[in-house]
Amino acid sequence: SDVLTPTPQPAGDGVREVIIIGSGPAGYTAAVYAARANLAPLLFEGSVTAGGALMNTTDVENFPGFPQGVMGPELMMNMREQAERFGAELVRDDVVEVDLTGPVKTVTDGNGDVHRARSVILAMGSAYRELGLPDEHRLSGHGVSWCATCDGAFFREQDIVVIGGGDSAMEEATFLSRFGRTVTVVHRRDELRASKIMAERAMNDPKISFIWNAEVAALHGDPKLSSITLRDTVTGQTREVEATGLFIAIGHDPRNELIVGQVDLDAEGYVLTQGGGTATNLPGVFACGDLVDHTYRQAITAAGTGCMASLDAERYLAALP
Ligand code: FAD
Repeated sequence: SDVLTPTPQPAGDGVREVIIIGSGPAGYTAAVYAARANLAPLLFEGSVTAGGALMNTTDVENFPGFPQGVMGPELMMNMREQAERFGAELVRDDVVEVDLTGPVKTVTDGNGDVHRARSVILAMGSAYRELGLPDEHRLSGHGVSWCATCDGAFFREQDIVVIGGGDSAMEEATFLSRFGRTVTVVHRRDELRASKIMAERAMNDPKISFIWNAEVAALHGDPKLSSITLRDTVTGQTREVEATGLFIAIGHDPRNELIVGQVDLDAEGYVLTQGGGTATNLPGVFACGDLVDHTYRQAITAAGTGCMASLDAERYLAALP
């Protein structure tokens, strides 16, 4: 329907039905659903990174509904607008502290204001580890990528370098060998951390070669990546390698700082959810998106679990006495 819901207000006792933390596909989708369910959600977007991981990319070609592809920031601004249209209240601020243990949760924002809610949806995403080089952000989406599934197809018949020595680096390299002219894995040690089966698959692939004991010292190219400088981790010698694609696969860190010690996490720091849904160990606290997901890590899966979290919160709230 085109009828807009009224401006959201906390319930009479000043306690909201739901607060959402995080503004990627998971958080915004949760907000669309919660707003349409008349739960007047309050969503904290983050002060610097509002819109989530896709704000740092260019074309997104695998989000259904956009046959010509869509720019990452445009997709996110559309999701934001859709949440707002149904009355979600979006705040461009960080959450700095939470107490999620009781029936009424408290959420403290960057100004020190304390908000209360009966349910909280955690959607803080995860941060891809970066190399920490000066040109990394400038070249992100212009040759430098963190996701082969997302961007591999842009690098047909090109020379691709993959950084990392774990399972995800091997998986990225093997996937990229479908597209690239060459795929070179650069690892800072002389042996892989990856499981045997993943390592063997990559090593047996005729398109994939390895450079051992090397790290990236610099990225070159304007406006697009054209080459990288490698530094030998043993001798310190440098050399330049031509590459128009660089995939950084050195891991990611779920953004769990807020919730450590309250919400159960797995050994790698991802939130543990129960029974195939989004419930955490704490009643009324739900988690979704890349904060939960080791495996799929896509915009559409984050959006999907954001929807689930909102439906789970709705059911939880409906069952409260
Ligand atoms: P995120 O998108 O990471 O959003 C979480 C956001 O929550 C943060 O950015 C921040 O704004 C906010 N937040 C975190 N902590 C707080 C806090 N304390 N207070 C307030 N706010 C907070 N996937 C695809 O499907 N297709 C692609 O083409 C694609 N390309 C990609 C390109 C790049 C460069 C990257 C990095 C990722 C790409 N991905 C792609 C993966 C996709 O972006 C993620 O899977 C998806 O964004 C995860 O969504 P999310 O909502 O869980 O978290």
